[in-house]
This record gives sequence, structure tokens and C-alpha cells, in this order.
Amino acid sequence: MDSFYDMKAWELLGLIAGGEVKAAEVLDSVLDRMERVEERVHSYITPTPEEARAAADAADRAAAGGGAGKAAGIPMAVKDVLCTRGVRTTCGSRMLEGYVPVYDATVVERLRGEGLVMVGKANMDEFAMGSSTENSAFGPTRNPWDLERVPGGSSGGSAAAVAAGEAIWALGSDTGGSIRQPASFCGLVGMKPTYGLVSRYGLVAFASSLDQVGPITRDVKDCALLLSLLAGHDPMDSTSLDAAVPDYLAAMEGDIRGIRVGVPRELMQEGLTDGVRKAVEGCLDLFARLGAEVEEATLPNLDYALSAYYIIAPAEASSNLARFDGVRYGLRVKGADDMIEMYGRTRAAGFGPEVKRRIMLGTYALSAGYYEAYYGQAQKVRTLIVRDFQDAFERFDILVSPTSPTPAFGLGERTEDLLAMYLSDVCTIPVNLAGIPAISIPCGLEDGLPLGLQIMGKVLGEATVLRAARAMEEALSFKARPGAEKGVGA
Ligand code: GLN
Repeated sequence: MDSFYDMKAWELLGLIAGGEVKAAEVLDSVLDRMERVEERVHSYITPTPEEARAAADAADRAAAGGGAGKAAGIPMAVKDVLCTRGVRTTCGSRMLEGYVPVYDATVVERLRGEGLVMVGKANMDEFAMGSSTENSAFGPTRNPWDLERVPGGSSGGSAAAVAAGEAIWALGSDTGGSIRQPASFCGLVGMKPTYGLVSRYGLVAFASSLDQVGPITRDVKDCALLLSLLAGHDPMDSTSLDAAVPDYLAAMEGDIRGIRVGVPRELMQEGLTDGVRKAVEGCLDLFARLGAEVEEATLPNLDYALSAYYIIAPAEASSNLARFDGVRYGLRVKGADDMIEMYGRTRAAGFGPEVKRRIMLGTYALSAGYYEAYYGQAQKVRTLIVRDFQDAFERFDILVSPTSPTPAFGLGERTEDLLAMYLSDVCTIPVNLAGIPAISIPCGLEDGLPLGLQIMGKVLGEATVLRAARAMEEALSFKARPGAEKGVGA
């Protein structure tokens, strides 16, 4: 069997368009790989091989006529937080039992227009709350590099699928790091776009002022390509930006001489492993060698980002998740005497412990008497963080940091220690609070596990972020693949 499953989308698109390879053959390769590894990795909640087969055949017919779309024939994993018409959407929760959307999320619909081949709905932390994919009601996903470790989260299924060769690329969502951290743990590229660049219509809401959909890919070029298919105004999302979308593929090329790189001191403090620190410092040297000007930056309010996030995100979640009441969607527990009891029993049975914790935290922070002290205060801190970034981007074109303070941790290692779990996202959360774009690219290994470099840009600065990421990717030339001893093998 060939190894199409191990290739990049842009490589395969060229081969399919040139008639050298059929989309059906690429799909065979990925489905065959799924058969060999899925049992161990568990990337998917709902595999969709029949739908994928029909889409691949359609892509081949379109290619024969010279009119294949820009995603045609590329097997993709879609995080199960995005609505897919006719395919159950669970959000990793029991709460949505039996829910089959009657519409596609805008991002899915756009990709369908470009020949999407969806191979499955990917596993995730319940309602995207978590950093390890251990909070899924469907059981955890394992890291393809080391099956005893987590793939990160909440888009852990999406990242694991791409890293294990069970998809060529994937869609994730990122509220506090859920695309970038799993990409970092799985040796992949992951990007959270500027808030409003990509439509949230049909993305089941966690924290609406923070959520964004974005790509998880094998290199920066695929990331630029996929982002260009996702970005753009959507009248169905009132927070969608009506801005021109640049040609990210073209913008990604070119050198980075003279680019000003800031390194926020607050993101290089305690808690980093030696490997992470060394890998990021190595990248800073490389940036300097590529002609960039590298300097320390100070964004003092980042020290409060995690605290502010764990008020704002749960507050928004407690409001968003109120709709899951046993009436309109999914699960309804029978045998209650009245409506209030039915609500209570359904929510008690349907939500897992982390989701309940967030709903309680959020409800408390929003309740009369506490609103100003918690929610109001967190919003003020958020404003200060936004200003810190604005000030920093007066002096710098990009900011860089580790994506995560550590490589992938062991399954079960942080489930009892919530602070340790929450700290996984200490470097990624400020980006969501500020609404700016950031990418994670693989930048080294520690004990055989991949590490990520985070590159942040100003609002709508995706082109610059991608160009810096591309230059760094070339300079680093990270080629490691999951080993066969602890992981799934290449
Ligand atoms: N890990 C963070 C949380 O649990 C971020 C999750 C996300 O980005 N969806 O809230």
C-alpha cells in the first residue's frame, strides 16, 4: 500500500489535479490506515467512510472535467463541535444524544463547495472544555507519538487523526488554546485566526467572545491553504468581520529580514520544562540569523490572563449551555413529575463533571452581588490585556512564546489536579482574550515528544504570522514522526 495518508494536502491536490492519483486512492490509503490504528488512538467519535467514499468519487469526476475544488479529494477530520447536516454531532457529550443537525456549519458548507471529503467527526473534550480530550463522554483519544499520553485538547481527536495518518488535515476550534495546544502535542501546525475572521455559524458555542474555528495541518503551507478556504464574511454570524481576505499562500512566501520579534517575558517564566525553554531559545537564535530583530517584550497584565479567562469563559458557557434543557435538543431523562425536575435530571445525567463545574463557576460569577466583583473585574483585566498587546504591536510585528509549557503529559496525570490542567493553556489563553491570531508550529522534541512554538500577530495579521511561521519551519526543518515503540509508527 502506498503512503498517501502521510502526505500534505497541497502535494495531493497537485497529484489529483494532474490526474496522477485518484481521490479514491488517497481515501483508500487513509481508510486503510484508520483500520490499522484507530482502535489504539480513538481519534473519531463518528467515522463517516461511506460519505467520504461518495465525496472522493465526486472529486474524481470533477477532476476528470478539470473542475475539482480546492479541498477535493483530501480526507479531513471535522471536530465534533461543528454541525454537519445528516451526521450526528455530539460535542463529546451525552447531552446531545440523538441530535442530527439539519444544517451545516458555514465552514463545513464552504468546504463542501470545494469538494470536502469528510472521513469522520473527531473526538474532543465535552463542549470543548479541557486540554487533554479526557473529558469526552466517548472515552479519551491517545497521542499517536506515545499512546500512554494525551493528544492535548480540546481538539485532541482532530490533531491525533492528522498525526496518526487518519486524516490529511482537520478542523478544530480554539477558545483558549484548543487548536494550538493539541497541534503542539502532536507535532503539527495549528492556527487560531483573528476573532471574526472565520464564521462561527454552526459551531456549538462554548464562550462566544473567544471561540474561533481554525486549521490543524502538517505544515504551514497547508495551514495557509485551509485558512484561505475558511476565512471570509458570513452574514449568518453577526460577529463575522467584513474584511478582504488576503492571498495567504502568496503572503506566506518571502523572507523575514527586518521583522521585529518580541518575546513576552511573562510567557517565559516558571513552569517551562528545560526542553521547551531550549527549543524556544533555539528558535529565537534562528529568527536572528534569518535577519529578524529579536527583543524581550513586557506585557504585565498577561499574568492575570488565566484568572480572567476562568471567569469569562465559564460565564459565557453557563449562558450558552442553558439551551440544553431536555426540551429542544438531544437527551431527555424520563420519569420526572414536572418540567423543573425534568430539566434538573436531564442536565445532571447529560453533562460530565468538568462541564458542570464550568456552569456552576459561571453562574456564580454572574449572580447578583458577585457580578461586579468577578465578571466585571475580569472584563476590566481583559481590556488591559488587549491594551498590552496593542502597545506591544506598536514595537513588534510578531510576538513569540512556547505554545505549551510542557510536552504531552500522561493520561490521567492531570485529571485530579485542575490547576495543572488549566495551566496547560497559560501561553495560549491571552491570545483569545485579545482576539488576535496565533499559530503553533513544531519546533523540537523533548524525550521524543514534539514541542510547539507559538507565533502571535496583530488583529488580521495572519499574513505576517504565516510568513514568519513558514520561514521558521524551513529553518527548523522538523522531520520527526511518531515512533513505533511507544506510538503508532509512521
Ligand atoms: N483548555 C481550555 C479550557 O478548558 C481551552 C479550551 C478551548 O480552547 N476550547 O477552557
